[in-house]
Amino acid sequence: MTTYREFHRRSIEDKEGFWAEQARLVHWEKPPGKVLDYGRPPFARWFVGGETNLCYNALDRHLGARGNQKALVYISTETGEERSLSYRELHLEVQRAAAMMRSLGVGKGDRVVVYMPMIPEAAFVILACARIGAIHSVVFGGFAAASLAARIDDARPKLMVTADGGSRMGKVVLYKALVDEALALAKHPPSKIVLYNRGFDRAVRMTPGRDLDYAELRAKHLDAVVPCTWLESNEPSYILYTSGTTGRPKGVQRDVGGYAVALAASMKHIYCGGAGETMFTTSDIGWVVGHSYIIYAPLIAGMTTVLYEGVPVRPDAGIWWKIVQDHSVNVMFSAPTAIRVLKKHDPAFLRKYDLGSLKHLFLAGEPLDEPTHAWIADALGKPVIDHYWQTETGWPILTSVPGVEKTPIKLGSPSFPAYGYDLKLLREADAAEAAAGEKAVVAIAPPLPPGCMSTVWGDDERFVKTYFGTFRNKQVYSTFDWGIRDADGYYFILGRTDDVINVAGHRLGTREIEEAVSMHSNIAECAVVGVADSLKGQMPLAFAVAKDTTRLNSAEGRKALEREVMETVDKQLGAIARPKSVHFVSLLPKTRSGKTLRRSIQALAEGRDPGDLTTIEDPAALEQIRSALKTSTEP
Ligand code: ATP
Ligand code: MG
Repeated sequence: MTTYREFHRRSIEDKEGFWAEQARLVHWEKPPGKVLDYGRPPFARWFVGGETNLCYNALDRHLGARGNQKALVYISTETGEERSLSYRELHLEVQRAAAMMRSLGVGKGDRVVVYMPMIPEAAFVILACARIGAIHSVVFGGFAAASLAARIDDARPKLMVTADGGSRMGKVVLYKALVDEALALAKHPPSKIVLYNRGFDRAVRMTPGRDLDYAELRAKHLDAVVPCTWLESNEPSYILYTSGTTGRPKGVQRDVGGYAVALAASMKHIYCGGAGETMFTTSDIGWVVGHSYIIYAPLIAGMTTVLYEGVPVRPDAGIWWKIVQDHSVNVMFSAPTAIRVLKKHDPAFLRKYDLGSLKHLFLAGEPLDEPTHAWIADALGKPVIDHYWQTETGWPILTSVPGVEKTPIKLGSPSFPAYGYDLKLLREADAAEAAAGEKAVVAIAPPLPPGCMSTVWGDDERFVKTYFGTFRNKQVYSTFDWGIRDADGYYFILGRTDDVINVAGHRLGTREIEEAVSMHSNIAECAVVGVADSLKGQMPLAFAVAKDTTRLNSAEGRKALEREVMETVDKQLGAIARPKSVHFVSLLPKTRSGKTLRRSIQALAEGRDPGDLTTIEDPAALEQIRSALKTSTEP
């Protein structure tokens, strides 16, 4: 039994040996000639000369041993539909979708924009792209027309696949009119649109010659046999745009071989998901977590993957745990935002179900505050693993690696650098390595490991400038996150480097203060931003959602709760971190992927324009911030 420390050390000191070993976890039609080509820094090319296919690894490879095993379980609490497909059935559907696309002239290297709700057909299309070497670009279904148009123009697809509509909280969201609007806005619209009709939109408008019906096309290709197109490891598999929390989204381009290996290795070492087991990832196929851990990784590992269309609290806050029980879920992956939503409900909803099959719950996407981490770990009685990553990396950067060693979990920490990542905490001023306990920029010494982005789609220069241009004297990848390592080697993410608050020369991460605010037992969630202050440079300002709102009905009640929250912060971090004021709202502005839009809050607090809001979930949240700020300035 190797210790995790040893495992990580080897992954850095003997990169080629380490990754050559991991590469055996996937099928290579032609084995790689060279494990790593780093002749043109910072561009890393993994498994050079090797030929493989993501779809082959996800499906074909399993047909012999597990053709009749469930590959995909679809559960929609929006429509009440439940459906499952075996590996054999999924293989058939993917070939039909591949044949459809080929009949429309889509081939290797062509882009296909996928703008679909959480339905099995979305997975068919994604896997079909991988099968024929087309490059998919999934756009989160629910983005507005302008956001969709911008992504279309960047990716320049030959084809777009969509549906008539989706559903959220029982409310139908019609897609097609929005798609038409996006196509009218786009400068480079695709020439063909395939629409999967769910029966949501009886009056769906189809443009003759351009728009085609999925079911009709499928019927023409029922017996299609479409072999996999073998791709050199470094050819692009997909483009995915980042969440846009900090501005214009970046088109992350990913390769084929490195991604397959990274995902297969992560299932073994990190997620501990084995063939025949079941994984339930509650994300959306429009995000990187959905790409990696709803679709590709569980299938590459021979697991059953659960595709869930719905919210965590409908029909009630027990629905996810009912799914875990009914489908014997072994590995689950969700986000802190979702857990904070569940935290507002009775933990009895969790205890109602038999969670015996579940080994771990993994969480990522936003800082996981200690009270929420403790709440969910306690309610589940299972290890809850916070892990940290980005669209850019495709798999975790910081995580516990229980498949190698079950290291103790520290609440609030995503543990250690994942194998393959030569992680550094660097001082902003001179790129020198920070000491334990010193806050610094979380950076990765290149080459980036397999699975990470190869470049920015169509813009190598932007890749180098954006990600490797933070430090003048050192070419390292910046995560743009701010972190700290404790004496035991555990890392903590303190927030984004853009959001660091400088109070009289003290640098405070938004996350540290948010964490302290959340320590008050009546706070469900909060956002902290820095606002200009003539005396101290900057001061933190807190916006909080209370669990019990009865005290908020009177000005005195609000004042008293504000005072208590301030005292809680004083106790945790000292008076230096005390917010200038605490405003109570019922909703925080977030991106559609659940990340707090601190930049927009800060802009409003400083009387500026809130900036690009194309990725906001609910604009009403900004109105609340606006009015909260206004009331507080009134006498
Ligand atoms: P953009 O780059 O367009 O502004 P984004 O950074 O929100 O968007 P993602 O790639 O979806 O897009 O998010 C990655 C970021 O999410 C990380 O850089 C980090 O700030 C945050 N994050 C993810 N996981 C964690 C975690 N476990 N703890 C703390 N922060 C996390
Ligand atoms: Mg980012």
